[in-house]
Parts: sequence; C-alpha cells; structure tokens
Amino acid sequence: MRLILLGAPGAGKGTQAEMLMKLYNIPTISTGNIFREHISKNTELGQEAKKYMDEGKLVPDELVLELVKDRIVQKDCENGMILDGFPRTIPQAKALDAMLEEIGKPIDSVLDVEVPDEVIIERMAGRTVCPSCGASYHKLFKVETVLGICNECSTHLIQREDDKEETVKKRLEVYHAQTKPLIDHYQQQDKVLVIDGVGTVDEVRARVKKALGVN
Ligand code: AMP
Repeated sequence: MRLILLGAPGAGKGTQAEMLMKLYNIPTISTGNIFREHISKNTELGQEAKKYMDEGKLVPDELVLELVKDRIVQKDCENGMILDGFPRTIPQAKALDAMLEEIGKPIDSVLDVEVPDEVIIERMAGRTVCPSCGASYHKLFKVETVLGICNECSTHLIQREDDKEETVKKRLEVYHAQTKPLIDHYQQQDKVLVIDGVGTVDEVRARVKKALGVN
C-alpha cells in the first residue's frame, strides 16, 4: 500500500500516519521529520533547511527530492509506505510519479485531510513534539502520560519553532498556494479520498479506515 497524506500543517497527518503504519506494517516517510533530524545533528542539509523552515517557507524542491529518492528505494519500502508532508509542490508530485513509475509501484491513494484554517491555528497552539523520536502530542487531543515528557522515550517535549502562531499563518498561506493544487493533480488520476479532519483523533481515524475500506 502506497499512500500520500495531504492536508494543511496541523491537519493531523502525523497522527493518522502513526495509525496507518501499524495497520499496514509499512514505514512513514515524513520529510519534515527527516529535516528535523538533520537539524538536530547539525548537518549541512539541516542548516540549509532550517533557514526555510523557521520562516514557514518550503525547502527548495531539489533538496527534498534528493532525500526522498534515496529513501523510497530502501528495503523497508518494498511493501509500501506512507508519505507524510511529501509531495508538497507540483514539481515534487511529478518527480514522485516518475520515480514510482520507474520502479513499477505507483501511489494507491491520496488522503486529503481537510481542516479549516481557524481550527488549525487553534490546534497548533496546543501541539508539542518529542525532539528525540518525533512523536507528537496535543494538550486536548493526545495528552502524554507524564506532562511534558514523551511516552515513547521519556525526552522533554518542546513546541516546534514553526508551530508558533505567526509561522503557522505563513505556512497556511504556503499550503494554499503551493500544496492545494496537488489535490487537482491526483484527482485527475482518480486517487483522492477526502477525509473530514475535524473531530477527535478516533473519529478521524474511523473516517480514514472507512475511506480505505478497512475495519
Ligand atoms: P512538516 O513537519 O511536514 O510540517 O514540515 C515542516 C517544515 O519542513 C515545512 O514547513 C517545510 O519548511 C519543510 N518541509 C517538509 N517537507 C517538505 C517538502 N516536501 N517540501 C518542502 N519543504 C518541506
């Protein structure tokens, strides 16, 4: 199963990706998480990506594509993968289509998780993330067992620089201008499943499963 999760920043893609990963036993490839790992290791790529990320802008396509090209041919992706936060521009989508065509493994479905901007802005204010393993939490929707501490690896949780309100507004603008056109692109391939992303994690999870035809 090869899935793309589309939706604005804060639409809940990461949370649904965690569920889908267990359901299909396939990896999630989150370009945002890969960049954050590079930043925490202070690599050259991390330093370059950070400049864009902190301003709520997209990292240039060439840098993103280089990463993804190497990642999707790894052995753990043989039976499928969930793409979270990639592709984000039309050139990325076209490059991905070409890469997958070359290996004869096209995308099966694109889940478009729809959440209005006002709801996103409210949600982001409560979001925290583990800087070590990437798990995400929310003060209303997914509360950690011990406040401020990651359930998975006991690291102190932080608010991402790019989750601050001004940056969120910029990221939403970028989403509407550059990523939304991907819905049309994949609708032309008849692959889009629209999911109402407003509600609890469980409600959205049930809608995702229903759209994919699983229990
Ligand atoms: P995310 O965690 O997916 O919201 O990504 C955080 C930030 O990483 C984005 O706001 C972008 O600056 C950058 N980023 C992640 N994935 C991509 C991508 N596919 N194309 C361009 N920039 C990306």
